[in-house]
Amino acid sequence: MNVVVCGGGIVGLSAAYYLADRGADVTVCEAGSLGSGNTDRSAGGIRAQFSTPVNVDLSLASLAVWNRFEEDFGVDIAHRKPGYLFLAREAETAETLREAAVMQRERGVPTEVLDPDDARDHCPELHADRYRVATFSATDGFADPHLALQGFSAGAQAAGAEIRTHTPITGIDVRGGEPGGPADVRVQTPDDTLRADFVVNAAGAWARRVGTLAGVDLPVAPRRRQIAVVDPETPVPETVPLTIDLDSGSYFRPEREGQAIVGGQFGAHDPDVNPDDYDTGMDLDWAVTATERAGETAGYFGPESGIVRGWAGLYAVTPDHHPIIEVSRPGVVTAAGFSGHGFQHAPATRKLVAELCLDGEASLVDVSALDCGRFERGDPVDERHVA
Ligand SMILES: Cc1cc2nc3c(=O)[nH]c(=O)nc-3n(C[C@H](O)[C@H](O)[C@H](O)COP(=O)(O)OP(=O)(O)OC[C@H]3O[C@@H](n4cnc5c(N)ncnc54)[C@H](O)[C@@H]3O)c2cc1C
Repeated sequence: MNVVVCGGGIVGLSAAYYLADRGADVTVCEAGSLGSGNTDRSAGGIRAQFSTPVNVDLSLASLAVWNRFEEDFGVDIAHRKPGYLFLAREAETAETLREAAVMQRERGVPTEVLDPDDARDHCPELHADRYRVATFSATDGFADPHLALQGFSAGAQAAGAEIRTHTPITGIDVRGGEPGGPADVRVQTPDDTLRADFVVNAAGAWARRVGTLAGVDLPVAPRRRQIAVVDPETPVPETVPLTIDLDSGSYFRPEREGQAIVGGQFGAHDPDVNPDDYDTGMDLDWAVTATERAGETAGYFGPESGIVRGWAGLYAVTPDHHPIIEVSRPGVVTAAGFSGHGFQHAPATRKLVAELCLDGEASLVDVSALDCGRFERGDPVDERHVA
């Protein structure tokens, strides 16, 4: 089985590793350098507190891989687990958190529903009086996306995959094939035409464009998201969870030496951007707002807080904030639209992609809800735990 993977981010490289490990002949084509897309711009969050069963299942299957990463790949990805703390101000949001916690617990996530005063055990500076309820899971945390990408990349090459950087895919010609199966695929690059049974669209924020090359229309929108590294007035201990105010969309987490990362998307204006031409720097106004919002959540971010640096990257957003994982047409697998969760869900995705290519169906997780047809059917699976 010959597979060409389009995209050398975490999704493409993890899929390449697992496909090669299972015996496929794999070539990865990456337009830039490895990780030059959005993987290296991620906050590295890894959590199982999602609001839909399929996202929880993707998380649990992925967490099993993250937990063994150093043993399996020989790379310490700085996986820390201070947990995630979700907070609700509004009654409806509180109900959403409670319902989600029941579902998460049923699937094996150790989510606790907490009175906000008790949540101060995890986040001592929390302004508990502003919130109705909190949920906390001790198995959530974060890791270093760049190191994880390096691990998958080395693993893919050791398993026999060929990785071509600075090799954009410029054309995809698909001939023949049965629904759900392989086809005669010719993948065009500036230097070569590669023949494959499957091409895997793991192009992240570029997935819609790559889909178009293969005659597949994907509702995946590139949306700019920013992160600021802040030197808070009061240092944030490393034991503090990634803390999210679900009603404001603001979040923060500890970095090293008392610093913190703050983030969030504020305001309704959220246009699609050109993934080849957008501002990858941080807006200072946004960083000030993000720090103030974090200060509404917890007392670390007083007026003496300083903004150290920051950056912007792209989420690849679908209308229901879930990925599309499917054989979109014979010979064309889509693994895209992770809507801000693609780093953490890459390990599960790699197995699903390999199963779709090599076994004809995915079994690790029930991905029947993640086909692109759900948008036409009016049957989306809306994720509400997003920031
Ligand atoms: C600010 C920010 C914070 C985030 N925080 C988190 C988080 O906490 N947790 C989490 O799980 N996720 C997070 N994410 C999302 C995460 O970064 C992405 O979901 C993930 O990196 C997607 O990986 P990918 O491999 O699909 O895409 P990418 O890493 O973007 O890789 C896609 C690659 O495809 C290549 N490509 C495009 N077109 C072509 C072509 N024609 N031919 C060849 N190659 C091509 C690109 O060059 C790119 O390198 C965050 C994202 C941002 C921007």
